[in-house]
Amino acid sequence: MNAPVPKPWVMAIAPYVPGRATADDGRRLVKLSANENPLGTSPAARAALEAESRSLDRYPDPGASILREAVAAKYGLDPARVIYGSGSDDVLHLAAGAFAGPGDEVIFVHYGFAVYEIATRRVGATPVVAPDKDYATDVDAILACVTDRTRIVFIANPNNPTGTFTPRAEIARLHAALPVHVLLVIDQAYAEYIDADDDDHGLMLAMTTPNVLVTRTFSKIYGLAAERIGWGYGAAPLIEAMHRIRLPFNITTAGQQAAVAALGDTGFVDTARAHNATWRAWLAEEIASLGNRGLRVVPSKANFLLVLFEGDVTAELAYKGLMERGYIVRWLPGQGLPHGLRMTIGTEAETRGLAAALRDVVGG
Ligand SMILES: *Cc1c(COP(=O)(O)O)cnc(C)c1O
Repeated sequence: MNAPVPKPWVMAIAPYVPGRATADDGRRLVKLSANENPLGTSPAARAALEAESRSLDRYPDPGASILREAVAAKYGLDPARVIYGSGSDDVLHLAAGAFAGPGDEVIFVHYGFAVYEIATRRVGATPVVAPDKDYATDVDAILACVTDRTRIVFIANPNNPTGTFTPRAEIARLHAALPVHVLLVIDQAYAEYIDADDDDHGLMLAMTTPNVLVTRTFSKIYGLAAERIGWGYGAAPLIEAMHRIRLPFNITTAGQQAAVAALGDTGFVDTARAHNATWRAWLAEEIASLGNRGLRVVPSKANFLLVLFEGDVTAELAYKGLMERGYIVRWLPGQGLPHGLRMTIGTEAETRGLAAALRDVVGG
């Protein structure tokens, strides 16, 4: 050995591929590849962030009190049981780090969020992939993967990159059938986009049971992706274990202030939700009207659509054609979806432009 040797489980990680913003030749494109908020950020959140620029010399509050209090007040939670992270990705890593290690198994779905596999491998645990049911989460398939070694099940609801939603009754059935020593992580990065009646009761399970962790983020509907603020909620012993491995000052002062202001701006969130519902439905209709070109839209409750290319126009060709016309979407061959493009719902102009470019590319 003549150089430091990385751990084999680290070398088994396929690095995360972020959504792109530029074309192969460096041109800036309309970025519809990272599920960001096309309406920007709440003005109140921006003002709160700017106000913090006066006190950059001080460490942030290590206990993130203002964030925990605001989140708890909004959802009726116990602030002591709110964990926080540098984005909810951080919270997902804390869950894996506290509850899984070498020899343990962690289950997630085939077309699941890429971070679950990275977080699993990072701690030396073994990923176990449950097959999907026509791109949606299949509770029976997940349960069939459970063994004595299972420690965590990660699901996103709505799921990314499919946009599919697992209804409350199915989440309840999954939770009821899991052994209580298995941690069920319900990643609700897109929860604010669903209708109130559709609530999957994840937070209710996190409040009342010992083995459910719900995660949320300020990166999507709140339009604060740049600030990296996420949080999680679960039983006190879960949260206590995660705090032991959390970096001492893992969220910034300005980020916390911005997040608290964003939580309070319900008008901005309502506008973003309504915009998304309108233009997601419109884009799905437009794609359906492209005629017999083999394009299929997976039903979505999130702020994006997964479009499957099942005819002679390939997803790769469409991806390149859209890029030439100024639009960058997400092509995911590395996630088992060489035949799919994930498209974020943009502004009205961006969404209309994307639909026109797609029509041009596929010749519908
Ligand atoms: C975007 C996303 C996240 C989190 O993002 P952060 O910016 O790290 O909070 C988590 N889970 C899913 C499924 C996502 O799509």
